[in-house]
Amino acid sequence: MLQEQELIEATQDHGFALKLMELLVIPTFVLDLNGKVLIWNRACERLTGVQAAEVLGTDEHWRCFYDLPRPTLADLVVQGRGAEVHRLYDQHVKRGDDGNNSLTAENWCDMPRLGRRRYIAADASPICGNDGGIVAVVQTLRDLTDEKKAQIALEQLATRDGLTGLANRRCFDQTLQAEWHRALRQQQPLSLLMVDVDNFKQYNDAYGHLGGDECLQRIAGAVSSEMRANDLVARYGGEEFAVILPNQSLKGAAIVAERIRCRVEQLQLPNLGTAKQFVTVSIGAATALPAVENEANQLVLTADTALYRAKHMGRNRISLTNEAQA
Ligand code: GH3
Ligand code: MG
Ligand code: MG
Repeated sequence: MLQEQELIEATQDHGFALKLMELLVIPTFVLDLNGKVLIWNRACERLTGVQAAEVLGTDEHWRCFYDLPRPTLADLVVQGRGAEVHRLYDQHVKRGDDGNNSLTAENWCDMPRLGRRRYIAADASPICGNDGGIVAVVQTLRDLTDEKKAQIALEQLATRDGLTGLANRRCFDQTLQAEWHRALRQQQPLSLLMVDVDNFKQYNDAYGHLGGDECLQRIAGAVSSEMRANDLVARYGGEEFAVILPNQSLKGAAIVAERIRCRVEQLQLPNLGTAKQFVTVSIGAATALPAVENEANQLVLTADTALYRAKHMGRNRISLTNEAQA
């Protein structure tokens, strides 16, 4: 009975609450209304590599997370700048739904003292006094780096081609649909290149399947080197690549196609017995101004038709078709 009474008294004691927070396994820090650190618990020391003594009483806690000055989530709550959370935390942001200005957000943090980035989820909530006014803000942190890396690896698996590292067919299909709709909305042209390696069966026969694989990797690198930021190059199938060129006219697409053709030729990968004696590619180019009644697949068919024409005309060349004329 005496013990119970002691516990009640101790709980009412401010120091007890501080000690409890010290020992919590969840990384936690508390800011006062001037944005100065009141509490920095041991789990927070372990997460950041920064001892409490270094930050207590200062407003330098951001340095534990970032290379450049910026507010932490708790600072946003202290300063009533909750609306800026969308600008500062671009991933998985949501406003606390308890109506008291709490914030929840996730982002990559530089963690300067640790020397390696960590993906941190944070919750910041105001602590209110008896009169209902805010007296401090508490921020708890969770290190989600492993989960985030696993998620990124899964996304990579789902969208990348294992051999070349390019976008895979699935990613190509999705991107083409998205770009088609964007071009339709913005009434801009959309161009597509279909790139097929010439006489590749012969190359495989001469250098084996592994040699062929290496050749495909070199060609993938050559094609990628000609891409702009918004272009997408994908492995469409075996020895065939597809390039999406948003907002590109047929004339512009032809220039890119010719550059790709030259790049591959300049690799000078020997393919003896062929016309050039080197590995070459044939490229079909097509451009459309998307219309509601048309489909993105039509652009693929048109570029494919142009590709077969390039093959028919002797390979190692580009062929163009405007979809409207196809
Ligand atoms: P063309 O000039 O008409 O395109 O002739 P080609 O020999 O390139 O075309 P064909 O379709 O006859 O042969 C394509 C070859 O590409 C056959 C196939 O074994 C090979 N290939 C497809 N995918 C891979 C791959 O991932 N690795 C390797 N090494 N070879 C592949
Ligand atoms: Mg082929
Ligand atoms: Mg081929």
